[in-house]
Amino acid sequence: MNRSLHQADAQVYRIMQDELERQKTTLMLIPSENYASRAVMAAMGSVFTNKYAEGYPYKRFYNGCEFYDELEQLAIDRATELFGADHANVQLHTGSQANMATYYALLKPGDKIMALSVATGGHLTHGSPISFSGQFYESHFYGLDPDTDRLNYDMIMEAAKEVRPRLIIAGYSAYPRIIDFKRFREIADEVGAYLMADIAHISGLVAAEAHPTPVPYADVITSTTHKTLRGPRGALILCKQEYADQIDRAVFPGIQAGPLMQIIAAKAVCFKEAQEFGFREYQRQIVRNCQALGQALLEEGFTLVTGGTDNHLLLVDLRNKQITGREAADLMEAAGMVVNKNLIPGDPAPATETSGIRPGTPGLTSRGMKEPEMKLVGQWIARVIHEGRDNPEVLEEVRGQVQGLCEAFPIYEDL
Ligand SMILES: *Cc1c(COP(=O)(O)O)cnc(C)c1O
Repeated sequence: MNRSLHQADAQVYRIMQDELERQKTTLMLIPSENYASRAVMAAMGSVFTNKYAEGYPYKRFYNGCEFYDELEQLAIDRATELFGADHANVQLHTGSQANMATYYALLKPGDKIMALSVATGGHLTHGSPISFSGQFYESHFYGLDPDTDRLNYDMIMEAAKEVRPRLIIAGYSAYPRIIDFKRFREIADEVGAYLMADIAHISGLVAAEAHPTPVPYADVITSTTHKTLRGPRGALILCKQEYADQIDRAVFPGIQAGPLMQIIAAKAVCFKEAQEFGFREYQRQIVRNCQALGQALLEEGFTLVTGGTDNHLLLVDLRNKQITGREAADLMEAAGMVVNKNLIPGDPAPATETSGIRPGTPGLTSRGMKEPEMKLVGQWIARVIHEGRDNPEVLEEVRGQVQGLCEAFPIYEDL
């Protein structure tokens, strides 16, 4: 019991050291990833992992929960204050479960839900046929405006009137523009639907008022805590008071049993960090950095879906570069820049290949990088995609430049 990880399991320890080295020496350009603080990681790796605490604060099914009541109530209070919401449930293990719990709370099997499809930027849990959400519910999709690749609220209104869904979902994994939640509320009211905002990607921006909040408009809001919010891997649900009991019962005992109290501790830490002044500035810098990275790519002849970004991610259409998303992402990884391939609206390529990549700036901004570094990264991405094919020297050269930048902007000082 008292051995360190190193003493108890040299293999896992060694793999962890390798991963730490990878994180230190590469650029994290995946917009759904971030670096949790040392404080968040300390809470995750704590004695709170040792206890069952089924139930909610002061209403537990296990004895010995006095400090768990205090802890979870603190996390709930900080979450509601941070977002200005009536009610928060902080027990969700993942964003997908937050969505599952919301459907379970508000819908009956077979009810109609309406969202953006995965192929145009939505999430698997928004009704995809390969997810529970497309099998337990009757899923319908609204599209993007084919002329602008943006949400077109008149088109969404028309589609909603036709389908008359029970639930409309607003919130995406690969949409680089502002979402107008007020317009979504009007659409939901017009057809008598619930409105769920899934802010998994943008919750950090929302908390810092760098993106308009859905709180006054959405019935229920789901989010991860590990993306722009920069907390532990996990999720939360915010809702209006009238849905509080329904949501809580859907989470426990509906779809989960014991909460991960060590993760709830880390969520509490994350919500406190997100209320500090530096976090507001951090989120604004994420957006400025993303716009600077987009500008650098435009100057290198790249095409950006919608022409640019209002948030933390870019969707790059690679069709004019004669390269697939998969190949571009693999070349970039060889040069130390980790990005993911992504379908673009109307993509002719399959999901395993894609015609796009989806770079984002939360990770680079956490390292303290600003606009000048984004310009460099944009130029390196261009060099790798333009010249890197069958050219290991170019990849090696850029890899060296990336490593130098990583050393100038370290992640964890004493790790
Ligand atoms: C990331 C994401 C989720 C949930 O993610 P998990 O991996 O299950 O935590 C849900 N919705 C959207 C829009 C997302 O981008």
